Amino acid sequence: MKKGILLVVSGPSGVGKGTVIKQVLAAREHMYYSVSATTREMREGEVDGRDYDFMKKEDFLAMKAENGFLENAEFCGNYYGTPRKRVIEKLEKGIDVLLEIEVQGAMQVRASFPEAVLVFIAPPSLAELRRRLVDRKTETAEVIEKRLSTAIKEFACIDKYAYIVVNDIAENAAVHLSQIIESEKLRTERNMEYVKENLLL
Ligand code: 5GP
Repeated sequence: MKKGILLVVSGPSGVGKGTVIKQVLAAREHMYYSVSATTREMREGEVDGRDYDFMKKEDFLAMKAENGFLENAEFCGNYYGTPRKRVIEKLEKGIDVLLEIEVQGAMQVRASFPEAVLVFIAPPSLAELRRRLVDRKTETAEVIEKRLSTAIKEFACIDKYAYIVVNDIAENAAVHLSQIIESEKLRTERNMEYVKENLLL
């Protein structure tokens, strides 16, 4: 059976990845969004098990020690990780999986799953990114500065991504991300089974 596509979406905090991804998932019935584990505080409006599996640091570290994460990283003082089991199960069943993770984690996925498709969602400019982070009003000024300097470091890895989607208007960015998924599905190497079964004598 054809394996699902492992789509890795990264982008700096405040770029609006969440909105773009929600639109893509709403338009695609069969894509599985991997809920990450994190040790950070829950934000207002977030739901445990839907936005993240919120974990205590010791539980996170225990799961990491048991190789329970496909990738994991420390980001701005908190731990984040992708629970391995459910992602592998979906891919094996042919279901496409979307990971929304930061750059260090994306590089780990790239190393262990060379077939993963890496997409970077970028802001139109740094000034616009700062404006979006300030407008979001979920972080203190200190945290905003930390996230901005992290963003600048993340841009250094952008050449490791197969695609860049500039999020000027979320609807446009969502269309571009969907187009990437559609194109990836048409890659020859993903369709060799069809070729063997239908086109070769
Ligand atoms: P936030 O705290 O704003 O929800 O997320 C901070 C950063 O952590 C974002 O860049 C987000 O994509 C990333 N992130 C969320 N889940 C994971 C994960 O499972 N692994 C990694 N490496 N990064 C994650």
